[in-house]
Amino acid sequence: MGKFINALAGFLGERVDILIMPRKGASTKFKLRRLTIWVAVIVWLLVTAGGLLFFVRGYDYNMVKADNNLMRIKMKLIADELERGRKYIELTHTTDIQMRQMLGMPGGKFINLPKNWEEAKAKQDDRAKQLFSGELKDLDTDEFEQYIDEIEDSSKTRLASFQEIAWYFANKKEGLNSTPSIRPSNAPISSGYGYRLDPLGHRTSKKHNGVDFAGKPDSPIFVTADGVVRHAGWVPSFGQAILVDHGFGYSTLYAHTAGAQVKTGDVVKRGDKIATMGSSGRSTGTHLHYEVWKDGQAVNPRNYFK
Ligand SMILES: [Zn+2]
Repeated sequence: MGKFINALAGFLGERVDILIMPRKGASTKFKLRRLTIWVAVIVWLLVTAGGLLFFVRGYDYNMVKADNNLMRIKMKLIADELERGRKYIELTHTTDIQMRQMLGMPGGKFINLPKNWEEAKAKQDDRAKQLFSGELKDLDTDEFEQYIDEIEDSSKTRLASFQEIAWYFANKKEGLNSTPSIRPSNAPISSGYGYRLDPLGHRTSKKHNGVDFAGKPDSPIFVTADGVVRHAGWVPSFGQAILVDHGFGYSTLYAHTAGAQVKTGDVVKRGDKIATMGSSGRSTGTHLHYEVWKDGQAVNPRNYFK
């Protein structure tokens, strides 16, 4: 071992000459120990490696910084898009209210805004602004989650509300078609609804449940709303009568006809000719006795046509 160290010390301690010979002029000679050369080479290698390491780390740092900037820009874009979406959902709320007004539709559970709605909305706007104004690393994920939840909630509410409107519209349309709204006959009215007066001006005890139209025999009788024929045939005192069920609590009766042109179970549309005028049953002359029933009660037919 000692021998090896001695040999190494001898080798490293040995002097060598380094000769620099320019093409012109005198040459220069350096006398150096081998140790010096090795030390110089090692120092040079270390410096180079250190420099390289420093450069790579600096490069990484700059890349991360650039990435962060890119992320920040992307985040800003996403935040803007989200905010725009949220604002649009708020706008649909206004459309929602307008549609309900046009349909004459009552509020419903999806439209009633809380009393301090304006305030809550302003607060929400502020929160959104604050949420996205800071650095990406400072983004409060809980707040962000709540923000997204709120957007989802309002979207669902609006969807439900629009479905409610669609449902209401479909029903109302059908309801309108099912409400008596035309004259059952073009003939003039000969007797109104309610208690008639006797020749002495006293109110008679028997209520007239309908309106009478007095016309020529065989003049047409029209059904006054969409519905289904519940009965077409003889009814004591009403004679050849037709009863039509319109749904939505409405039904109509056409009495003393010359004969039905529909049969029980037929589906009829408003304005369809269902019979002709006659004098069947307890009747003193050619006329149509027309009744309108709503929710099980006779109502004044005069309120159901112009
Ligand atoms: Zn009558």
